[in-house]
Amino acid sequence: MSHDRRHFIKLGLASTAALAAGCVESPTGESASSTLPTTGGTRKGPIILSTWDHGLPANVRAWEVLERGGSVLDAVEQGVAVVESDFTNRSVGLGGLPDRDGHVTLDACIQDHDGRAGAVAFLQDIEHPINVARAVLERTPHVMLVGEGARRWALENGFPSKQVPMAPDVAARWAAWKKEEKYWPEPNVENHDTIGMVAMDAEGRFAGSCTTSGVAFKIHGRVGDSPIIGAGLFVDGDVGASCATGVGELVIRTAGTHTVVELMRQGRTPEEACQAAVQRIIRKHKDLGDMQVGFLAIRADGAFGGWALRKGFSYALRTIERTDLVKASNELG
Ligand code: ASP
Repeated sequence: MSHDRRHFIKLGLASTAALAAGCVESPTGESASSTLPTTGGTRKGPIILSTWDHGLPANVRAWEVLERGGSVLDAVEQGVAVVESDFTNRSVGLGGLPDRDGHVTLDACIQDHDGRAGAVAFLQDIEHPINVARAVLERTPHVMLVGEGARRWALENGFPSKQVPMAPDVAARWAAWKKEEKYWPEPNVENHDTIGMVAMDAEGRFAGSCTTSGVAFKIHGRVGDSPIIGAGLFVDGDVGASCATGVGELVIRTAGTHTVVELMRQGRTPEEACQAAVQRIIRKHKDLGDMQVGFLAIRADGAFGGWALRKGFSYALRTIERTDLVKASNELG
């Protein structure tokens, strides 16, 4: 066993930290119960959570990065990059479903333990928006670059241009959608939407990442929650981290992942915090149709969990003991 590997396991098993989890009176009328089951609770990192089935291969890569001694920021970046490179994926990366004009436009962000963040939105012809987001974090004084400016900056900074021809199944779906002339974005319904990943290493340091091609057939120029810090992703190393998937407009309007992290700061478990964020979406929206939203969270004491608006949301979990696809509980069935 390599030294790095031994060190990695020792840190994971030896770490203990407790975070007071008192129940806080809710001024919003949302459930403040702390009787919901939570998982984890002593800090036995590493813990990696990522959205949907495609989280499994992403977690494998992220775990390898940690095992090799990489940082948790490296892990979340390289983990989701695996899914960006899968051009058969229809909701992440350049193989994603296009907007209504036939362009695939990508959104991504990344945030570290100390809150440093980078993001790109409405980016075209770049295979790895998550790498560009990390470069924005590290090489610029800014948080977010968008559109043609983001693309130009990426090219100038050594990220190659990449064109992926539209696959026949994508062309057929786009053509079918155009026939209906229903110029309104449709939520992705397959079991593989945005990939959001949150991770805590063995020393209790956090990072998160999020990357997507967004909702299918969106209006050209539309940006969802996924590249927006506090909406699709939020990390505050003092408290924990949260990521989101689903219809981004619902998440942006409620500052979804920021809400989750702030509720954990007040003492909610990750599951309770994710549930309360979902309940807030329900209270603020009269007609949710068949829209879906899911949240994941890890708290600084190693507790973790998720919650969704409706059934069907699963997440990939990786810890020292477990490699699982977990079905999240939901609010509406
Ligand atoms: N959250 C993404 C967006 O609204 C889509 C998704 O997760 O399916 O762009």
